[in-house]
Amino acid sequence: MGILKCKTAVVTGSTSGIGLACARAFAGAGANIVLNGVGDADVERERCSIERHFGVKAIYSPADMSKPTEIAEMIALAEKTFGRVDVLVNNAGIQHVSPIEEFSVDKWDAIIAINLSSAFHAIRAAVPGMKRRGWGRIISTASAHSLVASPFKSAYVASKHGIAGLTKTVALELAKSKITCNCISPGYVWTPLVERQIPDTMAARKMTKDQVINDVLLAAQPTKEFVTVEQVASLALFLCSENAAQITGTNLSIDGGWTAE
Ligand code: NAD
Repeated sequence: MGILKCKTAVVTGSTSGIGLACARAFAGAGANIVLNGVGDADVERERCSIERHFGVKAIYSPADMSKPTEIAEMIALAEKTFGRVDVLVNNAGIQHVSPIEEFSVDKWDAIIAINLSSAFHAIRAAVPGMKRRGWGRIISTASAHSLVASPFKSAYVASKHGIAGLTKTVALELAKSKITCNCISPGYVWTPLVERQIPDTMAARKMTKDQVINDVLLAAQPTKEFVTVEQVASLALFLCSENAAQITGTNLSIDGGWTAE
């Protein structure tokens, strides 16, 4: 019997990559799923595949994570459809790379809104129901960049450090409510996003694929291996288990040793 049977999980940014892997892992454990994301991913195909494969219900919310009212509507839609939100994964995220003095103000605002403020709005909307039912799991996808910085990623690093702080605060506030709040901090994860960068980088730097992977992408990762979306999703699923009931307020690294250096 799945550990999330009869429960509902909302996963933001779950039309691809880490979010989609979390949605599928939770569905495999019996949860009904609210998918969310923007862009041209084939959401209907993923939604049907989750229902067919795992025998659960899955719906899609097109809520834009930069819009507080749409985030509240997404949680309301989940509660209206399934009667509950038991697991919330704040995962939607974007990146922009630029020196600070040239960093676009619009990009700064968008990254802070989508990567950080969206988690505040979603947690704020989901907590009352979790408290009423006396159980909840809040998980945010942070990053190695919630612990260390890299140049030219000011907004991303600030947003992810913000997620780590928000996680601790919410965990303390909910400590006696049987609701845990944690964040997961991956290093480089093999997602379509990362894969698509390789051919361009090979051309730009006149490197082989292996050189791009080891000397550019994985320069910071001592294992020289990518984290997989399934590894991140199985850590998220573990956080939903009863064995993880005393894990709260933590920032769990899954980064091939990056932040040990
Ligand atoms: P991805 O691009 O494959 O997925 C991002 C998801 O966010 C997509 O579903 C996209 O539709 C959604 N999204 C983007 N903007 C949105 C918006 N305004 N409203 C709603 N949804 C929106 O990327 P990923 O690699 O799976 O990243 C997921 C999370 O993991 C992000 O928070 C990212 O910062 C974090 N992360 C990724 C890596 C990595 O190496 N891939 C490493 C550390 C942390």
